[in-house]
Amino acid sequence: MHIAGNPSSLTPQQAELIELVATLGREKFAPRAARHDLDASFPFDNYADLRANGLLGICIPRALGGLGADFCTYVMVAAEIGRHCGATALSYNMHVSSTMWAGFIADALDMSPAQRADHEHNRAWHFERIVREGKVYSQPFSEGGAAAAGKAPFGTLALPVEGGYRVNGKKIFASLAGAADFYGVLCTLDKPRATQRDALYLAVPAQSDGVSVVGDWDPLGMRGTVSRTLLLKDVFVPHTARLMPEGLYAQAALRFPHMFATLSPTYMGIAQAAYDFTVAYLRAEVPGMPAVKRRMYPTKQIAVAHMRIQLEQTRALFLQNARDAAVDPDKDTRMRLFAAHYTIMENAQAMAALAIRTCGGQSMLKSLPLERLYRDSRCGSLMLPWTAELCLDRLGRDCLYEPGERDEEIE
Ligand SMILES: Cc1cc2nc3c(=O)[nH]c(=O)nc-3n(C[C@H](O)[C@H](O)[C@H](O)COP(=O)(O)OP(=O)(O)OC[C@H]3O[C@@H](n4cnc5c(N)ncnc54)[C@H](O)[C@@H]3O)c2cc1C
Repeated sequence: MHIAGNPSSLTPQQAELIELVATLGREKFAPRAARHDLDASFPFDNYADLRANGLLGICIPRALGGLGADFCTYVMVAAEIGRHCGATALSYNMHVSSTMWAGFIADALDMSPAQRADHEHNRAWHFERIVREGKVYSQPFSEGGAAAAGKAPFGTLALPVEGGYRVNGKKIFASLAGAADFYGVLCTLDKPRATQRDALYLAVPAQSDGVSVVGDWDPLGMRGTVSRTLLLKDVFVPHTARLMPEGLYAQAALRFPHMFATLSPTYMGIAQAAYDFTVAYLRAEVPGMPAVKRRMYPTKQIAVAHMRIQLEQTRALFLQNARDAAVDPDKDTRMRLFAAHYTIMENAQAMAALAIRTCGGQSMLKSLPLERLYRDSRCGSLMLPWTAELCLDRLGRDCLYEPGERDEEIE
């Protein structure tokens, strides 16, 4: 089954890139996934393949040497990767988001001519590192406080100094810790009375003095993301480290909310993989398993029908969301975005759980991929800024309130 459902509506580039990662996924990523999961090791081998195929530059504009993919194309490619290795897809998203935020998202925002010129200069420098040198970027913004949920300024501070900034702070769950060449750190400009509007997005070279990766990494799922803690102590970065001009991150978060929706394609892929596995298992087509068919039992047919319905519902919202992405979406589009994100994250884990119940005890052995899908799928709805709870929170308010509306005091 094609990750896009009906592939006839794909552009030639979409069809080509999805086919490319489907082949890489089947032949390379899937066979390596169990080892990276067991060892909680970063999939450098998968990144070598992504690099060799130009996929590190998927969202970098063609004029700057990339593949020039748009939002819709990227999320379908990411979902296909997630079908074969969730951890690779999730960390790849951190890298690609860095290029997308500095790329077509920044293009859609308002900047002064001086900011635009400065941004063009800086991103050309970074994009060249990716396209020519195969450098990898990550995106640590979580800090363990209220900032990643968008409720407080980032606690990591960037003090303006001669030639650049001096950065101090701590990031938790920093996927690609120890593997990325640049950490795309979200921080706050260190100035009196700074607010969330003073957020700054800086690419900190991993080899800089004052950068360290600490703590262990032994989580339930997504073990190959190696999301350890990143410490930044008096780290100097030059002005070219700015992946967006000062103040632009806040504008992007407000005006291009789909920028946060790139976390869910990985889980669209996991949902697809849970379905694929269940069908193969019930048909006795899983390699290495005894040829005992289970498909003739009505309970199995009902369970797999439920999975198919969940899959189609998930994909429909996933694709709608992919096509909706644009600057300044209207209220209904924003609400659909939360509904889509929530549905993908929650359905992926519901489907993985149903798959195990349906296939039975042998299916959850570590020799098969389903138990990894089950553990990986659990991580999706925990991810800030849009956990399942926060999606419900925002959606519920938006259903009942128009902008500026308040309730009278209840006596
Ligand atoms: C595999 C994996 C990889 C990750 N990779 C990255 C990465 O590369 N970069 C990165 O920045 N982060 C990453 N994260 C972190 C992730 O985005 C979250 O920041 C993290 O899971 C939050 O954990 P917490 O316990 O600190 O959440 P808390 O902030 O303590 O929140 C706990 C729960 O409370 C709820 N909650 C939080 N704030 C509010 C609020 N204001 N109102 C109502 N409810 C609220 C939410 O539902 C949340 O699930 C990763 C996480 C995982 C699991």
